[in-house]
Amino acid sequence: MSYYQAPLDDVRFLLFDLFRIQEHYPALTGQSEFSQELADSILTEMGRFASGVLQPVNRSGDEEGCQYHPDSRSVTAPPSYRDAFRQFVDNGWPALTAPTAFGGQGLPYILGVVFDELCAATNTSLSMYFGLTHGAIIALSEHASDDLRQRYLPPLISGQWTGTMCLTEPQCGTDLGMIKTKAVPAENGRYRLNGNKIWITGGEHDLAENIIHLVLAKLPDAPAGTKGISLFLVPKVLDDGRRNGIYCTGLEHKMGINGSATCFMSLEDAEGYLIGEPHQGLRYMFSMMNSARLMVGVQGLGLGEAAYQTAVKFARERIQGRSLAGVQSPDLAADSILVHPDVRRMLLSQKALLQGGRALACWVGINLDISHYHPDPQQREQAHDLVELLTPIVKAFLTDQGYRVCDLAMQTLGGSGYTRDWGIEQLLRDCRISRIYEGTNGIQALDFVGRKLPLHGGRGARALLQSLREMAGTCDDENVRKTLQHGLGVLNEALMWLTINGMQDREQAGAAATPVLNLFGTVILGVLLARSAQVSGDSARQQVRDFYFAEHLSQVDAQLAVIKAGKQHLMALPAAAF
Ligand SMILES: Cc1cc2nc3c(=O)[nH]c(=O)nc-3n(C[C@H](O)[C@H](O)[C@H](O)COP(=O)(O)OP(=O)(O)OC[C@H]3O[C@@H](n4cnc5c(N)ncnc54)[C@H](O)[C@@H]3O)c2cc1C
Repeated sequence: MSYYQAPLDDVRFLLFDLFRIQEHYPALTGQSEFSQELADSILTEMGRFASGVLQPVNRSGDEEGCQYHPDSRSVTAPPSYRDAFRQFVDNGWPALTAPTAFGGQGLPYILGVVFDELCAATNTSLSMYFGLTHGAIIALSEHASDDLRQRYLPPLISGQWTGTMCLTEPQCGTDLGMIKTKAVPAENGRYRLNGNKIWITGGEHDLAENIIHLVLAKLPDAPAGTKGISLFLVPKVLDDGRRNGIYCTGLEHKMGINGSATCFMSLEDAEGYLIGEPHQGLRYMFSMMNSARLMVGVQGLGLGEAAYQTAVKFARERIQGRSLAGVQSPDLAADSILVHPDVRRMLLSQKALLQGGRALACWVGINLDISHYHPDPQQREQAHDLVELLTPIVKAFLTDQGYRVCDLAMQTLGGSGYTRDWGIEQLLRDCRISRIYEGTNGIQALDFVGRKLPLHGGRGARALLQSLREMAGTCDDENVRKTLQHGLGVLNEALMWLTINGMQDREQAGAAATPVLNLFGTVILGVLLARSAQVSGDSARQQVRDFYFAEHLSQVDAQLAVIKAGKQHLMALPAAAF
């Protein structure tokens, strides 16, 4: 059972009051028809689609799962998904933010970010089929030849076909330099690919006519490691209607997202096309992975929101014990559990993490638009820096916190959360993978400290801190400003420690990575919650901010202590002693 209502009031507040996109988007995107009314009506339709079409088949998809048919090496997706997927295509959702030159609607990316959250909240498994297709559209738009774009983008954008991302192999997940799949030049400028891929989302299914696989493989003359990887487009069905040699050889049985087909794939002399230049595949794949990382980050947010709404409904109805401040509902045998401070702590944590997380996701979505559309190259560059820097934080922090929210929501329901009736156990199971795929959260943290913070001599990091300082400075309340300044001071101290220790000793940077990412996430959410409370003038937002400051932002000193403890306590224990 689901009680989910798309959180459109919060989204509208963020887009139109906090970030005021209606004022600069018409000029930014060159779409003079873009207005608050237009965006508003699209948001309403998104909410209807998510709650009315995706939500009703969420539970059935989990129960039905995907079926593998060894004789035909084919897969059927949950039967209840078919009609929902058709409506997704018929309503034009795949085209929302896709390039107009190939049939897309070219609407701002921020709308795509909101759409991703609502889809994940109502049906994460089904949304994986179209989420990865969106990533494939981005990678092809940016790196494929005109010929490949003309042939493959229109049916992907219309939703007639879906896309996949084929990276992982049995011997390599994180360390893609160990890829063994081989590609050799063949006739007519094509290539023949052979190898095995595992855990490929949507690798085979019956929801679309064709599947376009983006495959990482090595050419015969490839240098060793990640520098020797190339990217290939490998269609399931070739242009002349022949079945290509890429097959599903089995399905993974998983803890969650059971309606999403996670496939073992075998490439058997499959025909493929090289995308871009040889040996540049990993760089190209990053276009797709960055988009997918943002999508996965908001999966944490969406699933957390669905769990939180259920927890609030339950807490209002469930009566147990009496308020410590005296009886609140004398007509009832007990008071609602909402009266208990401990239950309030759980619910407020959920609410604060979701409101702050959504503000962060929207901030990144808006900067994604600026980085693509702004006429001034300097503005584009600044926005691009911010997106690069914040993408691992969105992916790791929002999924860690989203999972924490699902867990707190389950705890709020007591035993009822653990049983199937209220649906939270599915949300928790579905959310768990978001911390693992698209690069584990540990790898996001390494990317953040090792690549993103030092990028361009720390240009993006300096701009981020400046933006955060400016936002903090706009808060009227002196105590709020002081608390934020303290948080920002701690960030600076962590960065200094990292610069001094992490540059000389990479193990120190590796030890600090996750706590540094968490510290950034904690402070950024604090600033955005404070700014939201300031702009809205709403007492509920101020109370959420105060709660967050007291229970979450207050942890920054402890987080700094963990960072400064360095690697010693992690690396001292001999491997044999584990
Ligand atoms: C349901 C599901 C769907 C998926 N979909 C796809 C898909 O569509 N396409 C695709 O290509 N892949 C897909 N994957 C694979 C997924 O991206 C990988 O599981 C993930 O990247 C981690 O790789 P791994 O599982 O091999 O873990 P490993 O790389 O073996 O890592 C194990 C642990 O070691 C840590 N670790 C590894 N290396 C380092 C290091 N250098 N420093 C610090 N810590 C390290 C990791 O953080 C992790 O905690 C999917 C996986 C699942 C389960």
